[in-house]
Amino acid sequence: MKVLVPVKRVVDYNVKVRVKADGTGVDIANVKMSMNPFDEIAVEEAVRLKEAGIATEVVVVSAGVAACQETLRTALALGADRAVLIDSGDTDLQPLAVAKLIKAVADKEQPQLVVFGKQAIDDDSNQTGQMFAALQGWPQATFASKVVVADGKATVTREVDGGLETLELALPAVVTTDLRLNEPRYATLPNIMKAKKKPLETLKPADLGVDVTPRLKTLKVSEPPKRQAGVMVPDVATLVNKLKNEAKVI
Ligand code: AMP
Repeated sequence: MKVLVPVKRVVDYNVKVRVKADGTGVDIANVKMSMNPFDEIAVEEAVRLKEAGIATEVVVVSAGVAACQETLRTALALGADRAVLIDSGDTDLQPLAVAKLIKAVADKEQPQLVVFGKQAIDDDSNQTGQMFAALQGWPQATFASKVVVADGKATVTREVDGGLETLELALPAVVTTDLRLNEPRYATLPNIMKAKKKPLETLKPADLGVDVTPRLKTLKVSEPPKRQAGVMVPDVATLVNKLKNEAKVI
């Protein structure tokens, strides 16, 4: 069984981003970039399926600028077998365009399982996996916290409001990862070295026959309002008094 894992290069989660002065977006010049954390979880899950003898090959795919190669090499160092880079240059790739690109790759690769992150932490869209599943007409289980693959089916536990839901999906299927699915491993130095020799194919959106023209226009990006400074209160009675009479929340 082949598993396909789409991985996105995003601003590292430790970086505090700044909005550009003209309000057109976030300044990512000279900022540390990393693999989207939910995609690390997706790679880990796919590699564990391979280690368990369930998956035979793990293919990772990333769409974006040429530097996405670094993200793919990281995924290869974590245990993926092969990588596909869809080099779209500076084009702003929106979720529908990415879903179409991944569909084109999936049509070629014929995976039985595609594991997306539940969302990319840059735009927080939470759309690509769902759009891909819809384009393919495949079953999907989003926000997975447990995945068991056996007998041509995936049994997926999902984190839903107030509890857990367990679904059974016929393969081929789409899963999107939640935080508690697993704890990704770190890449070891020998594996980082080995990853340099693993195959990485580069394609352009036109090679896949996909039109990636943006459908959405960003009108404005702005900082959240600054928080007011807090005040120290001497005792519980003062706190209760303030909550009652000033904030009027109790
Ligand atoms: P989003 O819908 O943007 O929140 O992203 C959800 C998931 O789709 C991510 O966790 C990735 O698995 C995948 N994805 C989004 N954008 C890309 C991209 N440019 N290249 C590869 N995978 C992507």
